[in-house]
Amino acid sequence: MCNCNQLESIILGTDESHPFKALDELEWDPERWATLNQCSDCKQLWHIDIAKNNQVGLCVKVNSKEEWLKLDMTQTRVQLMVNNHGGLSFDSCRWKSCDKNCVKGLAFCPIHAYFEMDIKI
Ligand SMILES: [Zn+2]
Ligand SMILES: [Zn+2]
Repeated sequence: MCNCNQLESIILGTDESHPFKALDELEWDPERWATLNQCSDCKQLWHIDIAKNNQVGLCVKVNSKEEWLKLDMTQTRVQLMVNNHGGLSFDSCRWKSCDKNCVKGLAFCPIHAYFEMDIKI
C-alpha cells in the first residue's frame, strides 16, 4: 500500500530521492526539469522535480495533467517556505515601502524573504 493520502500536498523530493514505492512516469518536461508521475497504487498524480544541484527538489500533488502543465513552481516553492515557518505573522514586512505580512519568525514577507533574503526553505 502507498502512503500518498498521508503525505502533504507539497513535500521535499526529487526523481532521485522521493518517498514513493511504485510510480509510473507519464510525462517528462526537460524545460521545467520536472516529471509527471502516477502512483501505481492509488493513481494519485505527482509532479516530481528532476534533481538539480542549486535547488530544493519538490514533489507536488496534482489532480490532472492540465493542472500539472500550469503548475507554477516558483509560487509553490514560496508557499512551502511559508508553510515550513508556520505561516504568516501580523507584523509588517521591513522591506522599504512593503506592508505585507511577514513570514512567522522572519522580518520579511514571503516574496522579500524568498527572493531578496534568499530564504528558500
Ligand atoms: Zn498512492
Ligand atoms: Zn515585503
